[in-house]
Amino acid sequence: MPQLATRMGRAKPSAIMVIAEKAKRLKAEGRDIVSFSIGVPNFLPGEHVYAAAREALAKDSGQYGSNRGSDALVDAFLGHIEALGLTGYKRENVSTGVGAKQILYNLAEALLDEGDEIAFPAPYWTSYLDIAEIVGAKINILPCPPEQHYKLTPAQLDEALARKPRVFLFNNPSNPTGMVYTRDEIVALADVIAKYPDTWIITDDIYNTMVFDGVGYHNFVHVRPELKDRVIFVDSLSKTYGMPGWRVGFIAAPESVAKAVTTLNSNHITSLPEVITAAAVAALSGPQDVPVAKCAEFAVKRDRVYNALVSIAGVVCPRPQGAFYAFPDISVAFGKKHNGVEITSDVDFCAALLETKGVACVPGSAFGEPRALRISYSCPDEALDKGMARIVEFFAELT
Ligand code: PMP
Repeated sequence: MPQLATRMGRAKPSAIMVIAEKAKRLKAEGRDIVSFSIGVPNFLPGEHVYAAAREALAKDSGQYGSNRGSDALVDAFLGHIEALGLTGYKRENVSTGVGAKQILYNLAEALLDEGDEIAFPAPYWTSYLDIAEIVGAKINILPCPPEQHYKLTPAQLDEALARKPRVFLFNNPSNPTGMVYTRDEIVALADVIAKYPDTWIITDDIYNTMVFDGVGYHNFVHVRPELKDRVIFVDSLSKTYGMPGWRVGFIAAPESVAKAVTTLNSNHITSLPEVITAAAVAALSGPQDVPVAKCAEFAVKRDRVYNALVSIAGVVCPRPQGAFYAFPDISVAFGKKHNGVEITSDVDFCAALLETKGVACVPGSAFGEPRALRISYSCPDEALDKGMARIVEFFAELT
């Protein structure tokens, strides 16, 4: 029998999907399941987005689109990022893709030769590791434990960049932790980045509109505009606009990088579909009331989750200030028993929680932090409260 390519030995299915599938299966068997596993925003875009899609369908050109993204889409994105304070970018700085995930994959192909180093903090979004492994990069993971609020320190970054990695990959607000870097923290990291001109900086900031408590969204380019020639800003419609299934992602980047991603598009996807493009333009340039309202709702949900978690003795949870994730350190449960079953790891914990309480969470080891688990709290309030009550109950039953 013919063989698969060697790189497939390094490729594995997303750990998050594995849990989500199990939760789905138990639900189909009739179990009462609360799923905190998958990172979906759980709301739909405004009616104007659907209207634009319907209109595009009625006027279908029957053609392929642009490898970069249509001018209308690129211009809508430029307008959108200008409102975020990212000014002075031109069409040549932009490219689009089938979600931020495909853009990140394209970036890995565009920037990393086999054996080149990529550095990123842990906890990290699972696909960073998976993508880096598939392209055969050398990976330097920078551990950011709960004691430092899961945030990278300037000293850690300095040490990592001194090794001259080809790419430093940053994520703010963070999936899985919900942490958001303050302006001062971004300034301190940008000062370090400025010292090392040989490294590309990817900032995956797809949750940039979901920031609470007035912390604000800050980018290295805001605080040091000269870094624009090395910083690659990644954005997506998925979370902000409730459009994960529409699959639209973007970069604002140095021209050479945007061009490289566009060239890869010409071989991978050709273009985004016309109907999707029309919907994306409407989302970016139409009324912004849905994302604004959802951000306020998520801040309230964050309080419900956080208050429940910190009520549990021994659980440590740095307070999330963005996205819709909480990432408690649950290692206090390790070495204890639930229903006679010993819990030795985050994986055991999540398996027992799902089995006995019907609550699906993702083990922290999927994100490089085996003491924790991820709660994705975008579900309706009733399910949220039910799930959190069951988690509290689970801890109370540990012996
Ligand atoms: N980056 C982060 C940090 C994410 O959480 C996700 C989605 N979970 C992505 C990128 C990919 O998003 P998209 O749906 O645009 O592919």
